[in-house]
Amino acid sequence: MRGLMMDTPLLVSSLLRHGAAIYGDSEVVSRTVEGAIHRYGYAEAHRRSQQLANALTRLGIKLGDRVGTIAWNTYRHFEIYFGVSGMGAVCHTMNPRLHPTQILYMLDHADDRYVFVDKTFLPLIEQVAGQAKTLEGVIVLTDRASMPESTIENLICYEDLVCAESESYDWPEFDEWTASSLCYTSGTTGNPKGVLYSNRATVLHSLSVAMPNVLNLSDNECILPIVPMFHANAWGIPYAAVMTGTKLVMPGARLDGEGVYEMLNDERVTFTAGVPTVWIMLLAYMREQGKKLDHLQRIVIGGSAASRSMIQAFEEEFEVEVRHGWGMTEMSPVGAINTLAPPMRDLPAEEKLDIQSKQGRPPYGVEMMITDDKGNPLPHDGEAYGELKVKGPFICSGYLGLENSEAHEDGWFDTNDVASIDPQGYMQIVDRKKDIIKSGGEWISSIDLEDTAMGHPDVLQAAVIGIAHPKWDERPLLLIVPAEGKRPDKDDILGYLEDKVAKWWLPDDVVVVDSFPIGGTGKVLKNELREQFKDYTLPGV
Ligand code: ADP
Repeated sequence: MRGLMMDTPLLVSSLLRHGAAIYGDSEVVSRTVEGAIHRYGYAEAHRRSQQLANALTRLGIKLGDRVGTIAWNTYRHFEIYFGVSGMGAVCHTMNPRLHPTQILYMLDHADDRYVFVDKTFLPLIEQVAGQAKTLEGVIVLTDRASMPESTIENLICYEDLVCAESESYDWPEFDEWTASSLCYTSGTTGNPKGVLYSNRATVLHSLSVAMPNVLNLSDNECILPIVPMFHANAWGIPYAAVMTGTKLVMPGARLDGEGVYEMLNDERVTFTAGVPTVWIMLLAYMREQGKKLDHLQRIVIGGSAASRSMIQAFEEEFEVEVRHGWGMTEMSPVGAINTLAPPMRDLPAEEKLDIQSKQGRPPYGVEMMITDDKGNPLPHDGEAYGELKVKGPFICSGYLGLENSEAHEDGWFDTNDVASIDPQGYMQIVDRKKDIIKSGGEWISSIDLEDTAMGHPDVLQAAVIGIAHPKWDERPLLLIVPAEGKRPDKDDILGYLEDKVAKWWLPDDVVVVDSFPIGGTGKVLKNELREQFKDYTLPGV
């Protein structure tokens, strides 16, 4: 028997329509690329997105066409998210920190017809625009007075384009399975792969992440996504914020400690989200300047493992609740978030930290299992670990042009992460499959060793990589970026680790470096470190 409910498609435009109608005065506050602060309400954002949809129609953009963006988190990027997807076209966000050849690959692979760029990224698009096969024009996200000079043939000013149009536009109704946005994985090995989100998946993901146990969104909250809109939909925050009337603060191009701190405090942000490298800068700034966080209540740390010492710093020194999070571009992207279940809140601090160091529990819409290398399910006992597989309505079923990828089998997506799951449902990432260190037939978790090393006061950042070893296959090498003014000593560091990790896990050597190579999404590039140290000889070999 079929239910008798309306067949109303779940469309991205409905999120904005709802936000504008019910929370029209809730603000979107942005630091513009020029530096000034811009603010308006969701009602105004809706009107401008309608103008943009009219402008795109005039440019000949139709249902299913792809339109690119290379842009910071600002209100204009927000308008593009909704104007493009709302009219039934596909908003293809590109990571500006990728190599120009990869940008060209993505423009061509996606058949982008137009691309929106912030002025910052004009030199990047100038290198490739002439070669991109389907590109008809480049739209610069600024006004007439600030339009830059350029060699690009069809260069369009965003404000001219949008302001010339009527504010009346009827968002079309179409199949909810229609693609809404496209984001390529970073492509650290081989070419980037396109994850094609649908309207339906985006709406379901928004509903799921808005929940109290995930982002806790409502018009009582104010959220600042440091996570970029050019990578994995800024963890879905722009969509979920407007849906719930949450005030949205966009940091623009200033992601340094001071810039982030100012926005957090001046705009009374209650919730923020980003990768650990950003929080390292914020912590350093606050400690140096003796600053406190006056309004911030919660912070999501994800994208890479949050170290125990970072969780402790935010919770104890700055009195902010840390929610460790895990996800992937392929998952829209939120896959797990860590909030303490009520009985856990009264545990001793160290035990709470043990739990908070895990990546957390899946939100509604994500199912998880772990398997051995033959695909047999492993128990959720917090001990067994294996390949982490996921499924659900906002997890990709294939890549653009690669619909039958080997990552999918029996309806599950293989994350390429290795994890354990405890009886309460808390998942812990042991490592990425390719980062795990294989020593004498056993596995060593680089994440675990890094986390432990980062507990030493002389260590700012740690990365552990496997170095070839004639007897053991691989042995761990610990690389360290020192804390400000510190000179870590190898024996002291190894001594510190000795009673904290298994004896055979102890790194064979420790090397201090000035900095780590950081990728486009703010993560330490282990593959580059492996390349740098590929000829490294461990002591005693
Ligand atoms: P990239 O592969 O370029 O980093 P994603 O942003 O999609 O692209 O990264 C997803 C991967 O990031 C996950 O598969 C996992 O390996 C890693 N990751 C994300 N969050 C965490 C976390 N909290 N702890 C450890 N690893 C994480």
